[in-house]
Amino acid sequence: ASQAVAQHVRDALEVIVRTVDDNVDELGRIDSIAGDGDHGIGMQRGSHAALAAGIAAVDAGAGAQTALSRAADAWADKAGGTSGALWGVILNAVASRLGDTGRPEAADLAAGVADAVRGVQTYGKAQVGDKTMVDALVPFTATLTASLEDHEPLLDAWTAAARAATDAARASADLLPRMGRARTHGEHAIGTPDPGAVSLGLITTALGELLAE
Ligand code: ADP
Ligand code: MG
Ligand code: MG
Repeated sequence: ASQAVAQHVRDALEVIVRTVDDNVDELGRIDSIAGDGDHGIGMQRGSHAALAAGIAAVDAGAGAQTALSRAADAWADKAGGTSGALWGVILNAVASRLGDTGRPEAADLAAGVADAVRGVQTYGKAQVGDKTMVDALVPFTATLTASLEDHEPLLDAWTAAARAATDAARASADLLPRMGRARTHGEHAIGTPDPGAVSLGLITTALGELLAE
């Protein structure tokens, strides 16, 4: 069972890489309006490094927790930029709930995602409404937790959560940035969504499609 879970980690990292690759230009374009234009490239560097580290760990016989935490560290290390550090925090938080043996439950995944929100907010100090990935991550987590508490199957809960993240990312276009590089762009960023929120919506949506398989 533990090797099978580690393979799921590898599959998930592959889906993240593919999603980032497919959207690299659009993420860069959004970040060039409301940031410094490197969000696509940064996410690409980080996710590819994470996949390579995850594959190396799985091939060496590591369990899910070890494989994902190596991937998280590689992402933070190689991406550069704020979002790289934050994706390292997110993936390390989820990894910590997976364990290296046995099969994690949906509740473990939800607990990992809840830890991820706390970790991102501790690290980055952003609140909801500051026009960052927190604007997508908080509704994602709230929806996932509430749906699982309502005894919905994981696929349905995750799909609803990804939709909440995507809707929130779209809605972030109306916000004035208060954190990160976009802060200095001020009103210029109004009408453009936050790049980190957009990429989170895209990635969680794609992971939901993987869960459906
Ligand atoms: P950088 O801003 O260093 O160039 P990226 O362009 O890769 O890094 O990522 C920018 C994204 O990082 C923003 O769109 C936002 O979602 C996220 N971000 C920036 N600062 C913070 C913060 N303090 N807390 C949460 N997310 C943040
Ligand atoms: Mg940037
Ligand atoms: Mg940058």
